[in-house]
Amino acid sequence: MSYRAEFRCIAGCAGAYPLDQVIYRCPTCGDLLEVVHDLEALRAVSAAQWKRLFGERFRSVDEPWGSGVWGKHEWVAPQLDPANIVSMLEGGTHLMKVPAYAQEIGLGDVRVKQCGTSHSGSFKDLGMTVLVSMVKQMIARGRPIRAIACASTGDTSAALAAYAAAAGIRAVVILPRGKISTAQLVQPLATGALVLAIDTDFDGCMKLVQELATKEGVYLANSMNSLRLEGQKTVAIEIAQQLGWKVPDWVVIPGGNLGNVSALGAGFELMLELGLVDKRPRICVAQAAHASPLHASFTHDWAALEPVKAKQTLASAIQIGNPVSFKKAVRALQKFEGVVEVATEAELADASARADRSGLFTCPHTGVALAALEKLAARGVITADQRAVVISTASGLKFTDFKVGYHEGKLAEVPQPRFRNTPVELPDRYDAVRDALLRGLDR
Ligand SMILES: *Cc1c(COP(=O)(O)O)cnc(C)c1O
Ligand SMILES: [Zn+2]
Repeated sequence: MSYRAEFRCIAGCAGAYPLDQVIYRCPTCGDLLEVVHDLEALRAVSAAQWKRLFGERFRSVDEPWGSGVWGKHEWVAPQLDPANIVSMLEGGTHLMKVPAYAQEIGLGDVRVKQCGTSHSGSFKDLGMTVLVSMVKQMIARGRPIRAIACASTGDTSAALAAYAAAAGIRAVVILPRGKISTAQLVQPLATGALVLAIDTDFDGCMKLVQELATKEGVYLANSMNSLRLEGQKTVAIEIAQQLGWKVPDWVVIPGGNLGNVSALGAGFELMLELGLVDKRPRICVAQAAHASPLHASFTHDWAALEPVKAKQTLASAIQIGNPVSFKKAVRALQKFEGVVEVATEAELADASARADRSGLFTCPHTGVALAALEKLAARGVITADQRAVVISTASGLKFTDFKVGYHEGKLAEVPQPRFRNTPVELPDRYDAVRDALLRGLDR
């Protein structure tokens, strides 16, 4: 096939680099790179033919084409030899209707894209399958790569460790000693990653991992690496596909380092360029009020990033004060009539718990997005005649302390949980149980 994609500088410097070159930033200006596809080649296939092909592959048992990411191989990493693909059938997640929740918050059509229903429990799998597959190809072609490393504590390290283990490549996780619980690390530990706990803070770890990447033949998996975004952008394509190739009016997504919203924008943009859809949705990035530098920029007419020191938040995966992909995110939001909304700790926890009552089990980051949705609905920005999709980024099963703490009423951040549910404790007597049953079902 003649489909091609390459890295280019987001600031527009000359130069293009193959996707299997070890390069993370523009050598001219130091800015981020992005993956640019040869649109002429992709246009040789009609929109109707792409839809048919993607439809045939979607969730098929034919590996790896049944993967939500690899079913879109030509649009993701066309020069990656399918023999090098390391897949756990990521993607293809449910776009769940939540009519009761929608009605409760004054909306008509709300759907939750369940990206956390995935091998390692978060959307990070969508990007990591691309990055690890590309590294497998680089190694197969003789590049001297000894391991893949990242400086994450949570979902990124879990995804990296799983995919690297499946590929037979060593994974290295670098983190600040004493600041990370074993529970946060249990996935990488279980899959045999080399976990290095350093006497420094998180920024110190980031600096070390970048130095290892330039000097020691270790490949960097942090999100400045735009290969991951190519996998993550398939979420946008799946949403349209699941809606019969229509885009929703709104997509609400929680944002920290802001790679995922950049990927979402890139996915919708590519579908528009190739004629699979005919309009853009509006996008809302939802941030925890305790870590909201993008919101500050938005409220000052997209002013330049002022890095902040992020305060502790229940939404720990988005506790980021200096987002790497800020520029890419602003560029996307400006195209998509974007807005940025914030959620307090109580708002995110209550929104998460309220939505769970429709059968979900949402993580706190999804709670941030749901709280933003509720606020936009209350203000009349999103209306009852519109369709809104909320991106759920991780499984609530990874955040049981948050869930248990909420329902036990033990979260210091949420003194009055509005949707608390607790067990009714009873003696072993039929009449007592019966009374409690009738009282409980009557509520
Ligand atoms: C990584 C992550 C995010 C934030 O994504 P960014 O690309 O950093 O904006 C949100 N939620 C969860 C659960 C995550 O793991
Ligand atoms: Zn440049």
